[in-house]
Amino acid sequence: MLYFIGAGPGAVDLITMKGHRLLTEADVVIYAGSLVNPELLNYTKEGCEHYNSAHMTLEEVIETVKKAEAENKMTVRLHTGDSSIYGAIREQIDILNELNIKYQVVPGVSSFCGAAASLGAEYTLPNVSQSVIITRMEGRTPVPERESIRSFAAHKSTMVLFLSSSLTEELSKELVAGGYESDTPVAVVYKATWPDEKIFRCTIETLHKTMVENNITKTALVLVGYFLGNDYERSELYNPNFTHEYRIGKLNE
Ligand code: SAH
Repeated sequence: MLYFIGAGPGAVDLITMKGHRLLTEADVVIYAGSLVNPELLNYTKEGCEHYNSAHMTLEEVIETVKKAEAENKMTVRLHTGDSSIYGAIREQIDILNELNIKYQVVPGVSSFCGAAASLGAEYTLPNVSQSVIITRMEGRTPVPERESIRSFAAHKSTMVLFLSSSLTEELSKELVAGGYESDTPVAVVYKATWPDEKIFRCTIETLHKTMVENNITKTALVLVGYFLGNDYERSELYNPNFTHEYRIGKLNE
């Protein structure tokens, strides 16, 4: 049996209770060493084998899992954040299915949730934005043309950019070309929830300068949109005059 576990964004106690329990029971752990907090390995039992997938190919990961299965061992595949976001789990799942190896996915706290928490921010403010676009700049992994930053920018909604911290010059140009004002607020969260987390607030115009000055080239999220500003409307849900399933509004009493 293999468990894909979302390790959370960084802080060692932001793994789920289920993820933690399975980690303590694992015989083999294959962890994404480039981003997973290595302190999580302290939760594993004595004799548990640790493999850093940063140095491995997909084939080597699968070979490690196959060997563990043959020895009746339980494997944990530890991915950073939540494995559904840029986690490369689908290609593993398809091979596990072919090999008839059982698996289960245990969700984790994605770094974009960790970043919002660190900022005390809400991505979905009434009358500001009710949608979050999670995307990335094209790097060595291509992004479909129809998902260009420019086309998403036209919505001026909340945007979360993964895997893009070394590409902020081009990113800013695309955001403005698509429709955001150049003074739209931006927050860069480096190593969200890690002990050495850093937060930088800027605008689309000053984003690249901010990245260069602070030497941020990886492990950061770029958050864009007016949810970072000061104007919004309060929610209807907690409005005294608003009636819903669990509460009668004052005006309707
Ligand atoms: N599955 C992960 C994302 C993996 S892609 C998740 O759910 O968070 C790797 C990218 O995620 C990094 O390049 C960076 O943009 C972002 N990232 C991961 N952990 C981060 C953290 N603690 N703080 C800021 N960005 C992070």
